[in-house]
Amino acid sequence: MPFLFCMKIPKWIYALCALVIAFAVVNALLQVPALEATSYALAGRTIVIDPGHGGFDPGVLGCTGSKEKDINLQVSKLLAQFLREGGAHVVLLRESDKALAETKQEDLAERVKIAHESEGEIYLALHCNAFEKDSPWQGAQCFYHSKSEAALALAEEIQKSLQSSLQNTDRAALAHDTTYILKNLQIPAVIIEMGFLSNREEEANLMNPEYQHKMAWAIYVALCHYYSSAEQGTVDDIINTETDNK
Ligand SMILES: [Zn+2]
Repeated sequence: MPFLFCMKIPKWIYALCALVIAFAVVNALLQVPALEATSYALAGRTIVIDPGHGGFDPGVLGCTGSKEKDINLQVSKLLAQFLREGGAHVVLLRESDKALAETKQEDLAERVKIAHESEGEIYLALHCNAFEKDSPWQGAQCFYHSKSEAALALAEEIQKSLQSSLQNTDRAALAHDTTYILKNLQIPAVIIEMGFLSNREEEANLMNPEYQHKMAWAIYVALCHYYSSAEQGTVDDIINTETDNK
């Protein structure tokens, strides 16, 4: 007879096993509807993602020489992947290290033009910030144009998600009315400054694939919440009113 069958198994072990199985079943039941609801909120949405800079334009440079354009692209690709898996149609403005035109101004104009032609519903530009080298400034922050209530709602949703996920910023979403992209886009747009490359610790984070993953996921979750509210008739109403007024 096998050794195990000879042993007298204490009752508490049976109780523990039953508890673990019950926990797993309840957990699985709670998880499935949440994932379905998340996918449903994004299904069919057209989202434009702008990985800032590229090609001749590196953006800001980090303490150790990292280039903003590279980090912007890496996080944008992860975000695009999450959104596509969630059922959204993603217009990714660049997929490699290239500019969209030969001058900075033409490049920005091209980004706005593609966003409008592709009938994007919302526009997210991913960037990194910088101040003087080795300065203590740090933290992700979202910017929007004050003409758009939907952009404000979107920026606040993303900022909230970044705060709770990254746990290293208490910055608030801020209106910025002079930026070319925000001024010229006719759809709700948010510039996400993901952190400061001039801060050595934050630069290391922003270059870390795990942190990039966390960043992209936080933005993805925010979009799910944003569109879940839209289904209840709040955000969609705002977007439609704004579009009608143009
Ligand atoms: Zn930038």
